[in-house]
Amino acid sequence: MHDDQGPNGRSFKVVIIGAGFGVLAAAIRLKDQGEHDFVVLERAGDVGGVWRDNRYPGCACDVQSHLYSYSFAPNSSWSYQFSPQPEILDYLRHCARNFQVSEHIRFNTTVRSLHWSEACGEWVIGTPNGEYRGRYVFAGMGALSDPSIPALKGLNDFKGLVFHSAQWPRDLNLAGKAVCVVGTGASAIQFIPRIQPAVSRLYLFQRTAPWIVPRGDFAITKRAMERFHRRPWLQRWVRLCIYVQRELLAFGFRNPLVMRVVQMQAIRHMRASIKDPALRQKLTPEYTMGCKRILVSDDYYPALAQSNVDVVPSGLERITEHGVVGSDGVERRVDVIVFGTGFQVQDLPYSITSTAAAASRWPMSGRGVRAALPARWSAASPICSCCTARTPCSGIHP
Ligand SMILES: Cc1cc2nc3c(=O)[nH]c(=O)nc-3n(C[C@H](O)[C@H](O)[C@H](O)COP(=O)(O)OP(=O)(O)OC[C@H]3O[C@@H](n4cnc5c(N)ncnc54)[C@H](O)[C@@H]3O)c2cc1C
Repeated sequence: MHDDQGPNGRSFKVVIIGAGFGVLAAAIRLKDQGEHDFVVLERAGDVGGVWRDNRYPGCACDVQSHLYSYSFAPNSSWSYQFSPQPEILDYLRHCARNFQVSEHIRFNTTVRSLHWSEACGEWVIGTPNGEYRGRYVFAGMGALSDPSIPALKGLNDFKGLVFHSAQWPRDLNLAGKAVCVVGTGASAIQFIPRIQPAVSRLYLFQRTAPWIVPRGDFAITKRAMERFHRRPWLQRWVRLCIYVQRELLAFGFRNPLVMRVVQMQAIRHMRASIKDPALRQKLTPEYTMGCKRILVSDDYYPALAQSNVDVVPSGLERITEHGVVGSDGVERRVDVIVFGTGFQVQDLPYSITSTAAAASRWPMSGRGVRAALPARWSAASPICSCCTARTPCSGIHP
């Protein structure tokens, strides 16, 4: 254990920020290479990153578990093709313990600043618990770790319950409630089928309809798990097959004709569950598949076809004390508003996409640089974006 008692505490060769899926792997690899002089600073009280924070009903990976896991830590016990969040979190906790990374983690330690000290030739990392120093910093704060809620007029006046899907209240009972869901992204399409049977009414505000293809999820039998356990090569083979299958999609992204075939599959998928032509029209995307993330679900369309669901094909305009108002000007009374509106992917801390605004929140300066780095990067406008007619934004604007 290191004696790193805040300011002037000893320095580490490597300081890692965050204890999510990504940098846990980095920490494990460092140990693997015999490097033990590192510390992991994590703002929360547990490992897992997005898999610790996102506990909404139906939360699961949408890349098959045998691929969405570390190549060096295969897990023969995944219960589903796309395993649920509690299993993924347990897996990450297990890896942190098993690879003895846990002892390097300082929980409840939020990194607030990052400065290169010419004098000591080290990064000085500021936290409320004091400073840490390191020759190298791995910034693994995650692009999807800070929820984004739009600043809607009237939000603070609402008398009911409001929350983001990544901050789902524990033991929440939505039975009999009128619920407004804002957003139709990867999280919303997972939790809507779970809450729809319980709620009295579900209003779904959809700004952009996503393309959705069948998920094809299935439970992995005990027999298959035992086989994977006894024959690790079989599991590696399955992983390779999934990898190749997913890589082939990249070919489709570059060849719109191939994408059209997948698009037809998505349309058939919708038609199989939704008989109402008006609803089908609302749910049919207006852009070519591939211009925005393709989503996977088997139960989203069947849930939307139920009589207690209204799809409102617009963004939410404003919120009243007891309801929500879309661009049609109609007020719909609701008890609960759930924002499935994604994450703050702009102005990420210590990233090249940071703007001057972020620079004040995330002060950082590097070797030989007089201005804060994000401001300098921002002035240089290094990030390009790509938008084509009738497609949503597919890049990041500086
Ligand atoms: C609901 C959901 C489902 C997803 N499903 C998939 C999937 O199926 N397949 C896929 O490939 N990807 C998926 N993703 C993307 C996912 O973000 C990545 O796969 C991966 O888990 C990211 O790991 P990470 O370590 O980079 O970041 P994170 O998991 O976001 O971890 C970042 C960590 O840094 C900590 N942190 C942040 N700021 C600070 C700070 N200033 N100081 C100290 N600590 C800090 C956070 O608390 C967090 O623990 C999903 C994301 C979400 C939200």
